Amino acid sequence: MRRYQGGCHCGAVKVVFETDADPAGLEVRACNCGFCTRHSARTVTDSAGTLVLHDTDGAAQTYRFAMGITDFILCRHCGCYIGALMDDDGETFGIVNRRMLDERAVFTSPATSRDYSAENETGRRARRRATWTPVTWSRDVDVA
Ligand SMILES: [Zn+2]
Repeated sequence: MRRYQGGCHCGAVKVVFETDADPAGLEVRACNCGFCTRHSARTVTDSAGTLVLHDTDGAAQTYRFAMGITDFILCRHCGCYIGALMDDDGETFGIVNRRMLDERAVFTSPATSRDYSAENETGRRARRRATWTPVTWSRDVDVA
């Protein structure tokens, strides 16, 4: 697995995205919901990869809206939008904001505009189960 580390601006929330995929071939998504648009978020995911989020000192703040099934992770200190998580049937799936990765420049695909506003909850969960990255989220644990 290739390992891409990153985190928020102040470093309190860290992220590690691992994938075997060629980063130049991974889709870079520009979700056009009101939240992602405001952050100019560009997200990447690999359902065969792993995503680990580390929250030190309780810095990660979660924000929910609309269906209320997604935790958008922001750093409460520096305000960066790190990524989004969804719990589903005992598992957690997520996406990472490419802008938070140290090696963000290797994810070179042009951003694909995505509009998911027509989805219902069942469809959204199914899509994410198929495409989002399995997540481990540890609070108050230092990155190894
Ligand atoms: Zn921060």
